Amino acid sequence: MTKDAFYTEIAQLAKLANEPRIIGSSEGAYLTINGKKVLNFCSSHYLGFATDERIIKAVQLAVKEYGIGTGYRTLAGTHLLHVELEKSLARFKNAEDAIVLTGGYMANLTAVQTIIGKEDIVISDALNHASIIDAVRLSGVKNKLIYKHLDTNDLEEKLKEAKIIAQTKRSDGKFPLILIITDGVFSMDGDLAPLPEIVSLANKYEALTMVDDAHGEGVLGKGGRGIVDHFNLHGQVDIEVGTLSKAFSVMGGFITAKKDLIKVFKQKSRQFLFSNALTIADTAANFEAVKILEESDQHVVKLWDNTKYLKAQFKQLGFDIGQSKSPITPIMLGDEQLSKEFSAKLFEYGVFATPIVFPMVAKDASRIRVIPSASHSKNDIDFGVSQFEKVAKELKVL
Ligand SMILES: *Cc1c(COP(=O)(O)O)cnc(C)c1O
Repeated sequence: MTKDAFYTEIAQLAKLANEPRIIGSSEGAYLTINGKKVLNFCSSHYLGFATDERIIKAVQLAVKEYGIGTGYRTLAGTHLLHVELEKSLARFKNAEDAIVLTGGYMANLTAVQTIIGKEDIVISDALNHASIIDAVRLSGVKNKLIYKHLDTNDLEEKLKEAKIIAQTKRSDGKFPLILIITDGVFSMDGDLAPLPEIVSLANKYEALTMVDDAHGEGVLGKGGRGIVDHFNLHGQVDIEVGTLSKAFSVMGGFITAKKDLIKVFKQKSRQFLFSNALTIADTAANFEAVKILEESDQHVVKLWDNTKYLKAQFKQLGFDIGQSKSPITPIMLGDEQLSKEFSAKLFEYGVFATPIVFPMVAKDASRIRVIPSASHSKNDIDFGVSQFEKVAKELKVL
């Protein structure tokens, strides 16, 4: 392709690009978009920490004391705050140790790429997050076995297949490793991985387990300790990946695991070695967020109160809200054009909830994904739901 042809193609692609709404306020219960105040009904700020006064104060103090950025963790960038954050995350998650990276995406890349080689075996849920898919690709592993979403019978079939493959030694003379990877909460439907069954199958077939708890962190389990706590499986999942960008409202990702494994991640992870550390402000914000969660479960309790209230309202009105077991509440509409129109009308009526369409979900499974947060009052939820009802009647959905 010539350079001209390339730029012609790029110009065509650029025409198709969707422009996001531009937010001109903080990410609280309401947002200001183009000067218009709208209910924030679809963000992953589960706990309302994006506007938390204590966290804002902690960031101000830390920046005043320590400045802005640090550097590469292995060179001159490991700050006291990074170490404190890792310690507090390990304690919070009831794990031996933790490593912090600049995102959940980075954490998934680290977790898989560091321990999995070409001749190992990865077994992955069909609906795992894109960052897991990329992590598996990056590892170069040849044997990728995909099991049907949440289907533990199919998982066992794949484990049997893996066991046969694993009888052949790798070129280094060792037997291949088998790693099972799953999302904890699946972000489009809000359904949960059957972790107890996955762990017991992993034990039966001598496989390692990894769970990506991005939407479970700060949401599930005692005081938001995540899916492993929710199922009381402490110490039984080898690798837990978390994000600090959803319930924590900051940015960053982390892995908790056994002490030695974390040491090896810090020694070998390319995302850790060749990419800069989390800034002082992010690190201080995350540290304060963990502190708040360790002191009280009030935010998590409020999130779940709101979740139950919201789901009950939608159900009563006759909306199809899927099978979610988390605050994620898909309002199933099916048709892509209808979902887009529905969302546009909601916006007109003061509610911000974006449509979710192909390729994020299947073509006939378009929806609007509503997520309540601890920053909503019952009145906010009443308002949001009543606007959904209004639009649904106008568009003849109900
Ligand atoms: C959001 C998300 C990520 C990415 O996390 P970032 O911190 O935004 O990089 C990874 N995995 C899952 C399941 C997610 O939902």
